[in-house]
Amino acid sequence: MSSNEFLSLGISAPVLKAVQNLGYEQPSPIQAQSIPILLSGKNLLGTAQTGTGKTAAFALPLLSNIDEKQKTPQILVLTPTRELAIQVAEAFQSYAKHIKGFHVLPIYGGADIGGQLRSLKRGAQVVVGTPGRMLDHLKRKSLNLSQVKSLVLDEADEMLRMGFIDDVEAILSKTPDESQRALFSATMPAAIKRVADKYLGDAQQVRIQNKTQTVERIKQQYITVKAHQKMDALTRVLEVEKFDGMIIFVRTKSSTVDISDRLQARGFSSAALNGDLSQAIRERTISKLKRGQVDVVVATDVAARGLDVERISHVINFDIPYDNESYVHRIGRTGRAGREGNAILFITPKETRLLRSIEKTTKSTIAPLTMPSNAQVSDQRIQQFTEQLSKTLETPRLDKFREMIVKYVEENDLDMADVAAALTYENQKERPLFPKLDNIVAPRQDNSSRDRDRGRGRDNDNKNRDSKRRDRKDRDNFSKDSPSRAARPKSERVIRDEDGNEVPMLTYRLEVGKNDSVEPSNIVGAIANEADISSQYIGQIILHDEYSTVDLPDGMPDDVFKTLKKARVRSKALNISIENAGGNSAPSSRSPRPKKGPKKSKPSSKDGSSKRKSTRTDGSAPLKKKKKTYTKKDKQK
Ligand code: AMP
Repeated sequence: MSSNEFLSLGISAPVLKAVQNLGYEQPSPIQAQSIPILLSGKNLLGTAQTGTGKTAAFALPLLSNIDEKQKTPQILVLTPTRELAIQVAEAFQSYAKHIKGFHVLPIYGGADIGGQLRSLKRGAQVVVGTPGRMLDHLKRKSLNLSQVKSLVLDEADEMLRMGFIDDVEAILSKTPDESQRALFSATMPAAIKRVADKYLGDAQQVRIQNKTQTVERIKQQYITVKAHQKMDALTRVLEVEKFDGMIIFVRTKSSTVDISDRLQARGFSSAALNGDLSQAIRERTISKLKRGQVDVVVATDVAARGLDVERISHVINFDIPYDNESYVHRIGRTGRAGREGNAILFITPKETRLLRSIEKTTKSTIAPLTMPSNAQVSDQRIQQFTEQLSKTLETPRLDKFREMIVKYVEENDLDMADVAAALTYENQKERPLFPKLDNIVAPRQDNSSRDRDRGRGRDNDNKNRDSKRRDRKDRDNFSKDSPSRAARPKSERVIRDEDGNEVPMLTYRLEVGKNDSVEPSNIVGAIANEADISSQYIGQIILHDEYSTVDLPDGMPDDVFKTLKKARVRSKALNISIENAGGNSAPSSRSPRPKKGPKKSKPSSKDGSSKRKSTRTDGSAPLKKKKKTYTKKDKQK
């Protein structure tokens, strides 16, 4: 058990030590399959999505083979967004904690290029970045790829969708032919397969096989919550749900202890269960759970394997499992001996894909659970309080207290109800009956799994498609009362989202055009990054010589409109305005007529996928695939 499994996979000693420090108990399925392949130097084609542990799947083996002395980049990771670049760089840093002289450098658009130039000069064994900025560095000759031993394309399908595939290929062609290559992608569209065929040769394929498994008698629900709000959400669920015994699944050994401690501090009777604990302690904890001396056990997969306790009424997946089989196994800890069981899954917005995948393999629907509100928590606490009060009222030893209070009330001419209220107030201070818990706003799920980059800042070098991908604007936030709706034509274009909902579109005019060497991907990048609008909702783009038009969802809020006015492409402000009547693409009266008639721009990649926005005529094709993903700008970040 425990990180011995990592050892047997062949991970180097310093990397193994870091994994142990992090509390990883066992490799996830994608790690177990990928690590030996990458350690052996072979190419790898992995179908894996966020949440499966794919970062460690490539970082651990590549770091195990690193040459600390070589300061020019030897591992190159390409990511679609700046936030993923940062996440991956941070992961490398934590896994390389015990490698002396190790440096990892994230490089992405939107960040000061001077700092990156200096850091590149100082040297880094690992460079993680977005394609546009990497190309910039290549052009400036500040990035030397001649010594690259391994190259990873992370979330390749996202890079394709964001129009980066040409840049990716340009970078690939600059890496040594003999370098090892790994490509991870949640899906394998034809364009990605083509890249894999061309650059990965006879790569070993890795994917998690999901056998269909049924889960009966278990009510399954999920809550979407941001990672840092999980503990609050858990506390609320525990307060409101009526449970007998509960297992909470987490990923690391350290989390079992941490969460159990925190639950105890909140008044729950809980215990940790992980592979580091001796067999005797583990058995004792389970027997306590059976006897009701402990109600909540916080466990890792390994420690809870085969656990069979009838009174477990609830399983909470605090951290999403790596694969669907593990999900089925986890929730199978409830609904024992013919009883009803409940399973609640916490997912962060970027894990939505895993949720859908679980639903598919289990052939079941996992219903959304609304975050318990302050009022619900309050009701529950009041109920518990009054129940306790009723019990206490039956206590035979209250006489002395009654006499004391009656005397006090009479002497001070008080109302008995006021006194009872004051006592209640004193009594509930530690656990308020009317709590003002922090408002947890459920984040919008991101079905495109692309809400990672919440960065800010203008990308002055016209590579802003690389940067500033934030939470997307919530379509529902596109209000009907938006001032920008005033005196504007009624929208005629309509697209359908994944749920079949009609999304009315409006045509906007942008003051950049072919004369500015603008490409559709620049426009998509600027709008997606600056306005947080998912590229799925960016409709038809038509490039004219001096301006362009783009279809966007109707009802754009004023602040977004203002942001887009100032947004720049090829150093020119978009100066967005609503195109004239009917949502058609004809130039407005203010604007010069195009010298040539409106032309559909050409896709630049061979299969056209990278520039698909420009090839549509009805604005509907790419929007059908994905659900809306606008969410509010993440103001907390
Ligand atoms: P990823 O799919 O790479 O985004 O990883 C998802 C999360 O799982 C990250 O927070 C990792 O730190 C965590 N993780 C990855 N591998 C393991 C493991 N073997 N045990 C526990 N946690 C892990």
